[in-house]
Amino acid sequence: MSAAIIRDGRIIDPANKRDDRGDVYINNGVIVASKSDIRNPKSEIEEIDAKGLIISPGLIDIHVHLREPGFSHKETIASGARAAAAGGFTTIVCMPNTSPAADNPATIAWIKDRAAEAACVNVLPTGAISKNIAGEELASIGSLGRAGVVAITDDGHCVQNHELMRRAVEYARMVGLPVLDHCQDYNLVGNGVVNEGYWSTLLGLPGWPAAGEEAIVMRNILLAELCDHHIHCQHISAAGSVRLIREARKRGVKISGEVCTHHIALTDEAIQNFDTNCKMNPPLRSKSDVAAIIEGISDGTLSILCSDHAPHAGFEKEVEFDQAPFGIVGLETELGLFINSLVHQHRKIDIQRLIEMYTLEPARLLNLQAGTLSVGAAADITIIDPDLEWTVRVDQFESLSRNSPFDGWKLKGRAVRTIVAGKTVWSL
Ligand SMILES: [Zn+2]
Repeated sequence: MSAAIIRDGRIIDPANKRDDRGDVYINNGVIVASKSDIRNPKSEIEEIDAKGLIISPGLIDIHVHLREPGFSHKETIASGARAAAAGGFTTIVCMPNTSPAADNPATIAWIKDRAAEAACVNVLPTGAISKNIAGEELASIGSLGRAGVVAITDDGHCVQNHELMRRAVEYARMVGLPVLDHCQDYNLVGNGVVNEGYWSTLLGLPGWPAAGEEAIVMRNILLAELCDHHIHCQHISAAGSVRLIREARKRGVKISGEVCTHHIALTDEAIQNFDTNCKMNPPLRSKSDVAAIIEGISDGTLSILCSDHAPHAGFEKEVEFDQAPFGIVGLETELGLFINSLVHQHRKIDIQRLIEMYTLEPARLLNLQAGTLSVGAAADITIIDPDLEWTVRVDQFESLSRNSPFDGWKLKGRAVRTIVAGKTVWSL
């Protein structure tokens, strides 16, 4: 088993309110307090130099589509995990919209088995809220919990029936599972493919109004209060959603929200050449929405950063804008984009808070044994160079897919080494 010393880095461990210079010691895949705790007569002690670098708890991305089972031409659990490692992530939470959908214990068992044999990072499955993610009948939430899902969500879809959603939240509370929700009112959104506004009108594309998200965020606030259980709103894109969540959290409602990289890195202006790599759900929004989301990150209203990594094959995206599937790959660009934008460019949060939003916050939300450098914790560690300048090259991605609008972007900040259970699974 592994033994290593990571030397002379800046150790940022928000769970232990730690930010200082020092060494981190690893023995048998676990963090130990000092060199004398390394008892490893059989193998060499690996020395890793972290001078000038940040030693962070392994980063967690709670919103990832791994596409297996069912769509292994887009991504597999193995390739998605390699992309995660290359992005600095030691734990990823995968969404249930696979084929078959992850709405039953057998599919969850399959995903966990596959991850155990093929994934180089920790893969934690979510289960569906409704059977076949159709929003009509509840999935067996209790058995999903026993099968080991970390949360329930119908991501990609949204339960429209508020009474059904209420029962889902009540069951989830009973079995102690967090609820995540993709917020989209189908009647308001209709066949919308881009933000409803100037660009949708100019380009003649069907609009997806911000109110289509805000209506469901509001519904979730009401249900979180009614059921006294936490609801986490996925990929928040609209200024109105930020305001609703901010007000509700002030009143003590158990509600939270997350931000995906593309919703602050781009606006709906990016769709003007009909690039299908700028088609996401929810869509890219206006400048004022982006400003509101950055403000929401800065005042703590939005507490988690993630990618909504959504790989699609080239032939699927190379069609007319209306016909193309939603989503972009994100695992290998998100850390660089967020450090670049939030820490260097806008200076809205510091690197400590950014790491907290990728470690302590998601671990707390999903009750994960992860996201800390505490003695005795699994040695899941990300080494970050916050000042490293690099250029995004999609042809170098570990992901099987290439659907990213960020090819050629020059960024500052990235992970340089990813360690899972004491073992280096990726390094620059
Ligand atoms: Zn979604």
